[in-house]
Amino acid sequence: MDPHTQAAPGGERVASVPMALHPDTVAVTSGRPRRAAGAPLNAPIVPASTYHAGGELAYGRDGNPGWQAFEHAVGALEGGEAVAFASGIATAAAIFDEVPAGGVVVAQRTPYYGVITLLREHHANGRLVVREVEALTAETLQTAGAGAALVWAETPTNPMLELVDIESVAAVARGHGALLAVDNTFATPLVQSPLQLGADLAVHSATKFIGGHSDLLLGVAVAADPAWAERLRGRRYRNGATPGALEAFLALRGLRSLPVRMERAQASAAELASRLASHPAVSRVRYPGLATHPDRDLVRRQMRGGGAMISFETRGSGADAEAVCERCELIVSATSLGGAESSLERRARHGAEREAGTPETLIRMSVGLEHGEDLWGDLDQALRAIPR
Ligand SMILES: *Cc1c(COP(=O)(O)O)cnc(C)c1O
Repeated sequence: MDPHTQAAPGGERVASVPMALHPDTVAVTSGRPRRAAGAPLNAPIVPASTYHAGGELAYGRDGNPGWQAFEHAVGALEGGEAVAFASGIATAAAIFDEVPAGGVVVAQRTPYYGVITLLREHHANGRLVVREVEALTAETLQTAGAGAALVWAETPTNPMLELVDIESVAAVARGHGALLAVDNTFATPLVQSPLQLGADLAVHSATKFIGGHSDLLLGVAVAADPAWAERLRGRRYRNGATPGALEAFLALRGLRSLPVRMERAQASAAELASRLASHPAVSRVRYPGLATHPDRDLVRRQMRGGGAMISFETRGSGADAEAVCERCELIVSATSLGGAESSLERRARHGAEREAGTPETLIRMSVGLEHGEDLWGDLDQALRAIPR
């Protein structure tokens, strides 16, 4: 299903518009209540643990009108059927729990740290067999994917911004009979469409760009096959990692402006990345939108821009890089990403990330909505912390 031709669910008059809608429009029109005189424009917050018997929803773990509205909208943007969870990591956990005991899972060695930690625990427990590959490519998957039930691909990765060629990995995964899940958190549905490239599941930490305001935790998986969405709803019901009514409302409210937020943030990120690349205090910039990016052709084929995340390494020591983060006045020094406000973090300050091989001076920056020149001014003055 092409997300660009998806009609908005719920709104009858919108749904009958014959022309294909752009994602910018879908983000605004989808997941609305039916258009009727006196009806609210937005799906209301429904704090319900139970519902009157005899309807589609019986108990709070079955579902909630607010989750459904959010799921409609994300599903329309990704081109599949969405299932929301309490967080991004709860979404990943639900997918891993759907792999039968003893099943083989192939993953990159350095995706989001919480994901690989969870997989390693399943491996140590003997519930899953996890095969970690240095780089996930059609070639490495040819061998590592033999007998696999699930391939977990994150692209671009957090925080190294490494890319996976979704289309070619999907073909090999299919050949092995394995399900391909793509963590699309960094790219967002606006910049990358994993299901259109052959993935079976697109996964998001909606805590990040989709929610977009650093005020909630939420996750969502979008399935190409409705049967998988049904399995994940069952898993959500049994595991109980259900979204909050307020979180789903806020995330959908955030999603309305995702296209314009991404447009601004991505444009600023592209400019900042190219300025950082020629800054004397910076030794390396990782940004998919840079003309010098090693996977430039892949970026062109599978992404609609470079996204709003930049990782750069400074000259000097880890302490010097830490001082850069502390010196920022405008840009927030904090973990997480995808908010309206720009933020940055030296990732190796987390011992576990240092052990995973994240360079000592790597600073991961989430570019927000402030004026690009103000962001540059702040970065430039903060980079004076690096000894010349
Ligand atoms: C944050 C993040 C997650 C985990 O999501 P939570 O909402 O924090 O549970 C998963 N994948 C990526 C790429 C992330 O950045």
